[in-house]
Amino acid sequence: MIHSNGYEDVNVNQIQVEYSKRGGRSLKVFLRNCDSYEKVDNLLGPLLLNNFSSLFKKGESVLVKPNLLSARKPDQAVTTHPSIVESVLKFLLYLETKPFVADSPASSSLQKATYESGIAQVCEKLSVPIVELDDPVQTDGQVYKKIKISAKVLKADKVVNLAKLKTHSQMILTLAVKNTFGCIPGLEKSGWHIRCATNENFASLLVDVHLLVKPVLNILDGIIGMEGNGPANGKLKKFGLVGVCENGFALDHAVCTRLGVQPKMIYVLKEALRRDLIPSYEIDGDWSSSIELPVTAQALPVPRFLGKVARSIVRVPRISKKRCVQCKICEERCPARAIEVSKYLIDYDKCIRCYVCHEVCPNDAIDLIRKFL
Ligand code: SF4
Ligand code: SF4
Repeated sequence: MIHSNGYEDVNVNQIQVEYSKRGGRSLKVFLRNCDSYEKVDNLLGPLLLNNFSSLFKKGESVLVKPNLLSARKPDQAVTTHPSIVESVLKFLLYLETKPFVADSPASSSLQKATYESGIAQVCEKLSVPIVELDDPVQTDGQVYKKIKISAKVLKADKVVNLAKLKTHSQMILTLAVKNTFGCIPGLEKSGWHIRCATNENFASLLVDVHLLVKPVLNILDGIIGMEGNGPANGKLKKFGLVGVCENGFALDHAVCTRLGVQPKMIYVLKEALRRDLIPSYEIDGDWSSSIELPVTAQALPVPRFLGKVARSIVRVPRISKKRCVQCKICEERCPARAIEVSKYLIDYDKCIRCYVCHEVCPNDAIDLIRKFL
C-alpha cells in the first residue's frame, strides 16, 4: 500500500527487531554519498525508517529546525534544501507524529525565508505548519546563564535538526551544532556576540544552546554546500553528502575528519572536546571531500620587521561602495553599533569581528580585508 505521504507500507515490527538486535551498539554516523537532490528521498527515506523510527512515538510533537539563515533560493545553498525537509517530514508523518517546521531567521522574515527556500511549498503540500520561534524563555546552560530560548523548542516532544554544510567566517564551519543557535529568537541572537566577545566564548554558548535544544536526530544537507567565505556569500561546492546521526557533536566531528579539517580548528568542536562531549562513534559510509576554509581561518603571520608595532593581522569587514545597495540590514544587525552605512563607515575600535554584517548582507557587499592591530 502507498500512503498519501508517499511511503510504501513497511513492516515496522521488522524494523524494530532489527533495531533492537543492535542493542549496545556503538553510535553510528551515517555519511552517505548523494550527488543530486532528486535522489534524496530514495536515500534518506529508507535510511531514516531503518535506523531511527524508534526515536519517535505516535502523536509526539516534533519541531523540525532547518537552516533558514535568510531568504535565498534553494540553488544558492544558504538554506537547507526543501527536498531534505520534505523527506524528513514524510518520515515523521509516516510515523504518525505531529511535525512542524520552526526557525527564527537572522536577516529576513520567516515567511519570506520559507517561501524563497522552497520549504513553505513543501509544508503546504504536506499540510505541516510553519512556526516562528519568537517566544523567549530564560533558561540556564552549562556555562552561560539566562539564555533566552524559544519556549516552543522546550515544549516540543522532540527536535530534529536539519543543518547545512557551509563555511562560516566567524566559526569556520557551520554544521549541526551551530544550526541550533537559530532557536534563540530574533534579535536576542546579536546581543550574544557582545556578551561573548571572543570566538571561543561564542562557541561555548553554541555548545550550551545545542545541549538545551537536545535534538534527537541531526541531518546534514551537504549535497551542495558552501566553501570560502560562508555562510551566505561563499562559493557553492558540490560535497555530495547526506549526513545523519543522533548526536550532533559526533556528526560534526566525523564530517570534519572526512573533509580533512582538524576538528580542533573548529571552535565548537574544540569546546566540545574540552567538555568531553564527543562520544566514540563509527562512520557508516565512504563519503569524503575537501573544503576551502574562509579567509578568517587562515593564519596570518606578522612580518618580523613589524613584530613590535603590530600584535596581529586580523580580518575586518569593509563595505564595498560598488556593491552596497544601502539596505541597512548590516547596520541594524551589527551588535557593536559599529556601522554607519550611509557613509560606508565601520568603526574598527568598536568592531568585535563577529562578521554578522558579512553574514546578513544580501548583496555580498562586505569584504573581509586584512588589518594590523
Ligand atoms: S553592506 Fe550589504 S547589508 Fe549593508 S547596507 Fe550595504 S547591501 Fe545592505
Ligand atoms: S562591523 Fe560587522 S564584524 Fe564588526 S561588530 Fe559589526 S557586525 Fe560584527
